[in-house]
Amino acid sequence: MNYSAYTIQGARASLKKKHFSSTHLVKACIDEIKEKENLNAFITVCEKEALKKATEADKKIKDGVDLPLLGIPISVKDIYLTKGIRTTAASKILDDFIPQYSATVVKKLEDVGAIIIGKTNCDAWAHGSSGENSDYGPTESPFLEGYVPGGSSSGSAVSVAAQMCFASMGSDTGGSIRLPASFCEIVGLKPTYGRVSRYGIIAMASSLDSIGHFTNTIEESALMLSITAGKDPNDATTPDETVDDYQSYLKKDIKGIRIGIPKEYFAQGLDKRIKEKIEAEIKSLEKQGAKIENISLPNTEYAIACYYIIQPAEVSSNLGRYDGIRYGSARQNFGEEAKRRIMLGTYVLSSGYYDAYYKKAMQIRTLIKKDFDEVFKKVDVVITPVSPTLPWKIGEKSSDPLSMYLSDVYTVTANLAGIPGISVPIGLIQSLPVGLQILGPHFSEGKLFQVGKAILGV
Ligand code: GLN
Repeated sequence: MNYSAYTIQGARASLKKKHFSSTHLVKACIDEIKEKENLNAFITVCEKEALKKATEADKKIKDGVDLPLLGIPISVKDIYLTKGIRTTAASKILDDFIPQYSATVVKKLEDVGAIIIGKTNCDAWAHGSSGENSDYGPTESPFLEGYVPGGSSSGSAVSVAAQMCFASMGSDTGGSIRLPASFCEIVGLKPTYGRVSRYGIIAMASSLDSIGHFTNTIEESALMLSITAGKDPNDATTPDETVDDYQSYLKKDIKGIRIGIPKEYFAQGLDKRIKEKIEAEIKSLEKQGAKIENISLPNTEYAIACYYIIQPAEVSSNLGRYDGIRYGSARQNFGEEAKRRIMLGTYVLSSGYYDAYYKKAMQIRTLIKKDFDEVFKKVDVVITPVSPTLPWKIGEKSSDPLSMYLSDVYTVTANLAGIPGISVPIGLIQSLPVGLQILGPHFSEGKLFQVGKAILGV
């Protein structure tokens, strides 16, 4: 069975018609995981549990139960708490941590029949852009041997791109869904801050963390969000805002949609080949009836500096709880990158420096948000590159944290402003994938799907 030809919706239809069983599907995915073990996409594979769930799903299917993800294998980044299943955050600190409860999102997925096939590898504590900061070894790109798949949700992206499951949950604090989606030629959605509950997900930087997912198509992305989005009494940052009918946007064309092209995202530092590819897509959207407008987001140049102050500040406070008393092992087991961020964060929050660094960064954050507020009075969405460069070789940037941080230059702004962003694959350059980013106002995920579908077609 070539299950990789299926989308979630396609596989569900085939399961209903009994063309194959969920057990078959889970086994096929487990086979892929084993065959491609060298990619190091998983920290824990839940083979036994998944097969048991598949048997239960098959029984339900036989009884005529119809749920959107019934019998469908899905992976989750190893920062999602999964009751009874080891959760490490890819750090040796939590090497033997078994959670007592599952994240709200995991529960929501399981409630509609999803089967968690495993916990994916990532940069430890989600700190990174390449997957190389994992204490369990780097994940490798499924495209070109020896290349990074993007991070920090590296294993999640690879698990979908290499057909080990149908969709994967990741987290995006500064680009960790959009960047690996772009490097792995799949769709990655970072929803509006608060759209999806963070309850039960190990925090990186709480005011920036967004919970989203990877899929092969826009249609699947819309389906996944319709399941995960919504208010959660356990997460005070999830608003009452009703969950849109995302599927309805997939039927709309883009005639009259106003697309802004911010000049700051196409300036120096962007690989010329990526620029050309994105410009070709913009032309094709114009042909489909979109109105293209040149715009400016003037505070973009401060975004990286601002992000790399606020984020480590929050990291240092969140990682303070891993003191060796409540959880797992001693502090010296923190890796280099976590230590760097704890020190940076502690520094910018310390008395005498707080006003100069942290407070200033928070003021700039407001300006970045205002830039977007202004622009979205004139346009519906904004299109940018995801990454200034193509995927790089494993090891190429690991000794130079600053050059690694710069790969987030086009993604951190959405987290600072709290707005949604989606990465859509637009082809390859020298066998390496390129992604295009669509950004929209708060809670405009439907529009992102609408424009994304016009680009990808599915
Ligand atoms: N690459 C960014 C960082 O290292 C983003 C990480 C993320 O989104 N989790 O901070």
